[in-house]
Amino acid sequence: MELEQALHTARARVLADLTAGDVTRADIVSLVEDAIAHRRWWVEQWPDGVAFLAGLVAQDVQDALLERYGRWPLCPVCVEGGDPHALDVEPELGPDPHWVCGKTAVAVARVGSLGSAGSEE
Ligand SMILES: [Zn+2]
Repeated sequence: MELEQALHTARARVLADLTAGDVTRADIVSLVEDAIAHRRWWVEQWPDGVAFLAGLVAQDVQDALLERYGRWPLCPVCVEGGDPHALDVEPELGPDPHWVCGKTAVAVARVGSLGSAGSEE
């Protein structure tokens, strides 16, 4: 996959997941842009990592949001328990990353498809 296309796809998938969680404020979109800029540099150093960009950008944004906004995305499987936690990206470094509940090991959605995960129920 070409670098620019991979970066564009990663950006689009993470923005789609943010939109699904209703957190696309301007300052948060700028966090995504920061993550993309960082990963552009990173993948230039390690071109084989291009397939992992979507999962890595998702994790970068998740980390940045944790500092400024809070946990994201909240696990839809464990909402009943009263102790909401964030989903994990698995694999952390691999192609075709998914959002996974670390407690129940349920794969909730592909990265970029959080918006369609809830509508299937
Ligand atoms: Zn969970």
